[in-house]
Amino acid sequence: MPEQETGYCLSFYQHCKKLIKQMFNYHPERILIDQAVAKEPLTEQICQRFPDIPKTLVENYAWHQENSGTDPLWNPLTQGKKTLHLKYFQGTSIKACPGFSEELVCCNYFTLDLIENCPFECTYCILQAFLNKPVITVHANLEEILEQVRQRTSSQPNTLFRVGTGEHSDSLALDQILGINPHVIRFFAGLPNTLLELKTKSSHVEHLLDLPHGGKTVIAWSVNPEEIIKQEEFKTARLNERLEAARMASDAGYKVAFHFDPMINYPDWKKGYQELVDQIFDYVSPDRIAWVSLGTLRYISSLKSIVDERFPGSSVFLDEFVPGVDGKMRYIKKIRQRLYQNVQQRLEKLAPQIPTYLCMEKSSLWNNSMPHQPQNAPEMEGLLLKSLGERFPEETQCLM
Ligand code: SF4
Repeated sequence: MPEQETGYCLSFYQHCKKLIKQMFNYHPERILIDQAVAKEPLTEQICQRFPDIPKTLVENYAWHQENSGTDPLWNPLTQGKKTLHLKYFQGTSIKACPGFSEELVCCNYFTLDLIENCPFECTYCILQAFLNKPVITVHANLEEILEQVRQRTSSQPNTLFRVGTGEHSDSLALDQILGINPHVIRFFAGLPNTLLELKTKSSHVEHLLDLPHGGKTVIAWSVNPEEIIKQEEFKTARLNERLEAARMASDAGYKVAFHFDPMINYPDWKKGYQELVDQIFDYVSPDRIAWVSLGTLRYISSLKSIVDERFPGSSVFLDEFVPGVDGKMRYIKKIRQRLYQNVQQRLEKLAPQIPTYLCMEKSSLWNNSMPHQPQNAPEMEGLLLKSLGERFPEETQCLM
């Protein structure tokens, strides 16, 4: 394919082809197992699923750059993902979302860390600069972790905890082969005051469709126009595959959600994002959509040089960015506002019943973009819970 057609040089095109080829075939080259989780049921389950992969028991595993071996792409971030590390997770598993800040209007979300790192290759992925080791880490003491969730949520029985597992990974990217979420979904089905959100750019839902989820799990897709997916979200499912998976999940009784995040300011942004809204409703009824969030590209400044090296054809940083109150770089306010308005207006026209919110923005950004202007996290959460209570009363009884 000639360079002028793709915008990429030939070597970059070959690099991308290789990434795409790897997309559907994630297979670790080795599995490292912490002594402390050697006998955990999840460890045994995962080892059984990879009978031919070499396994090593380790203690206090630490990544060293020389572990990157002879990978032809010669990048530890690429090579590291070929190692699966089954780790004993210490500490607090359920935490308030790190987006929480006095100055930003957050949505009072909780995160549950089950996996760190992701087999997908989004050019803008913050994990490239954030994680201190590039292997894929599974927290294998799952029962202990979930017991912490039970204790935390039962201590406030009249609070609805919305809990997401997609903070340090994609919730479903590996789940067909690791099989973690069937346990988690069953567990949350028995907790009265929770909603679990599994956030993904994959299409792997078949193994979840027959589970007794009890209406307590929301499966959510991060979406972008197909043009952006092709150029910036390598190895992920294509838009039509994500939306087909959303249809299947909805038909199986799951509530679904969509995150327009990160929205990218690209030449065809107006038409691209409006059509994206329309495409979603071609596949899923608005009545099954629990919420929609909007967020624009943001990044920590150390990410840029990593992306320049790993994805030289990426266009995500070709714009004007300014630092936000949380230190992350963002598009200037005018650009963020017009991206939000464009999607919000389309959503309001086609499905005004779906609650929408901005992710990690100041209240001033909600003005002129959104139908409501909450000043803080409790106000924001109140709007969301009111909508959930009206539309899904059975799953939100703890609020009554
Ligand atoms: S799906 Fe999410 S976690 Fe995975 S590479 Fe993309 S941005 Fe990163």
